[in-house]
Amino acid sequence: MTATTPPPVRDLAFLASLGTMPGLMRQLKGLGGCTTPIRLDGHRTDVHTTTGEILHHLTASDLPAGNLLVRCNNRRTTRCPACAETYRRDTYQLITAGLRGGKGTPERVATHPRVFATFTAPSFGPVHNRPAKGRCRCGTTHADDAPELGTPLDPDTYDYEAAVLWNAHASKIWARFSIYLRREVAKRAGLTQREFRDHARVSFAKVAEYQRRGAIHFHAVIRLDGPEGGDTPPPAWATAELLTDAIRAAATAADVPGPVIDGRAHTFAFGTQLDIRPIRSADLDGGTELTERAVAAYIAKYATKGAETATGTLDRPIKFLAELGRKSIPEHARRLIRTAWTLGARKDLEDLRLRAWAHMLGFRGHFSTKSRRYSTTLGALRTARAEWRRLQAAIARGDDTAVPADQGDDDTTLVLAHWAFAGTGLTRGEEWLAASFANTPGAKGEPT
Ligand SMILES: [Zn+2]
Ligand SMILES: [Zn+2]
Repeated sequence: MTATTPPPVRDLAFLASLGTMPGLMRQLKGLGGCTTPIRLDGHRTDVHTTTGEILHHLTASDLPAGNLLVRCNNRRTTRCPACAETYRRDTYQLITAGLRGGKGTPERVATHPRVFATFTAPSFGPVHNRPAKGRCRCGTTHADDAPELGTPLDPDTYDYEAAVLWNAHASKIWARFSIYLRREVAKRAGLTQREFRDHARVSFAKVAEYQRRGAIHFHAVIRLDGPEGGDTPPPAWATAELLTDAIRAAATAADVPGPVIDGRAHTFAFGTQLDIRPIRSADLDGGTELTERAVAAYIAKYATKGAETATGTLDRPIKFLAELGRKSIPEHARRLIRTAWTLGARKDLEDLRLRAWAHMLGFRGHFSTKSRRYSTTLGALRTARAEWRRLQAAIARGDDTAVPADQGDDDTTLVLAHWAFAGTGLTRGEEWLAASFANTPGAKGEPT
């Protein structure tokens, strides 16, 4: 529902009759457009530890909505557009901070060698595509939004089993790759792995994305830092060329053993399509190079997409295979889900939890991950935002005792809180009001 749908007049009239409308509006505004918040019951008391003075007390049932409302923070656009937009912006900030500094990351990272790399899955059988030259192997020139793109030319010979199992092992391949990458960089610098730690560090941020064929691929920003991360200059030998060469070697070498299914031993590795491009600073950019802004925008865009946007699959788990028959899902996605479901029944594949992740086509990893020293964290960005909102609310109340945590002395405040889950979502009236506070995309300085 959006604010442009007709208002649910009766629900709004009921809310108005409670006489708490201004307070309710303030509470809903704090959700930033989230219409599927988590509702909490409970209380929170902030006590000054030396004076015993109660600085702040909050009881959920006293709030205009009758509960404390917390944003759902869902990353998927199909589940919560407002929270997905916040997630996209946070991801953009996080990637940008690692490229040009800011949010606690030193600006000197902009001078470190960085590349943008894309790692793909191998082929599981020919699919309809739009080659740069000529036509698809089926003889057609497909439109760029043609539904058949990414679907197999011959579904009966397409390797659905390997496709699903590859997704299920994608995070492991990445983990192996990142170990090998450090080794390959060290080797090129003439250092042992032990010595390497005293000279340099490899930092990265990556996102997972589904290709139309339903295979996961990774986009990553990979950076060479000094021994203490972004704060320290990389050694003289650290160049984008050396990094590129090391990535190529590590990606080729990284493979993980998979299960043996009906006599077939699976091994998983990245596909041969590996794209690595150096990232230039915007001020050095002549217009043709890949810039920091473009990279951050690209990664952030994909961070909010799930399998459903690329392949038309589901955005939540299925409980029974019979559910699949009732949903309108393209045949290729249906076969991937069915394969995951069938393999999920095998005892020897139990740890892959393929039934729980069937709607994700087998992938159960995180959609965006980063090494510890890359830049700030999504959690830190969220805390900063919550703190800012708390301060705004305090100012609105005329309460000048509230200070942001980083300016106040945390040690003098004791927080007593107890919260219990009371449900999710909003009433129809609340939902209509909340939707009117949605984020608008395309904020200043941020390409969408
Ligand atoms: Zn939400
Ligand atoms: Zn075709």
